[in-house]
Order: sequence, then C-alpha cells, then structure tokens
Amino acid sequence: MAEEAGAARQFRCSACGNLTRFDVTVSRRVKEFRHFSVGGDLTVESVEVLEEHVDAVECRWCKASGDAIELRSPAVAENAEPAEG
Ligand SMILES: [Zn+2]
Repeated sequence: MAEEAGAARQFRCSACGNLTRFDVTVSRRVKEFRHFSVGGDLTVESVEVLEEHVDAVECRWCKASGDAIELRSPAVAENAEPAEG
C-alpha cells in the first residue's frame, strides 16, 4: 500500500477551533484498475494515488481559510494523553 501522506493530515481552524469539518479542494492524479464485465459493467478494483495536492481548505463552521487553517500532525494526536487524572 502506498502511503497517502497528504490525505491523512488533520486540520484545525484557529479562528473557531473546528477540528472536524472542512471543505478541502484536492488535486489528485490516480491510477485505477478498471474491471469491466462482459456486459460492460465497471468495477474499480483499486485506486493508486500517484500525486496529491491540497489546493485549499475552508472551515465549514466559520468559512475561514488560508492562514487560519493549521495542519495537525497525526503523531501528535496519537501520542497526546489526557492532562487530567
Ligand atoms: Zn472555523
């Protein structure tokens, strides 16, 4: 499996604190394994992402974009432990 480095990154809106809902415009170049049946029905068996670029991210809550949207590292989120307790 190819790593999707860009796809896994989580965003954070510094304007309103939103972590979960964003409109993300992505340019993606993919290679698909297209499996056609004899009858012509198409099944995409696999998709390999060759190239991916996040063009724009907009907060769904407050519509902030650009510098207001921060990238979060997945590693930070996984290693984070509750401060309380
Ligand atoms: Zn926001």
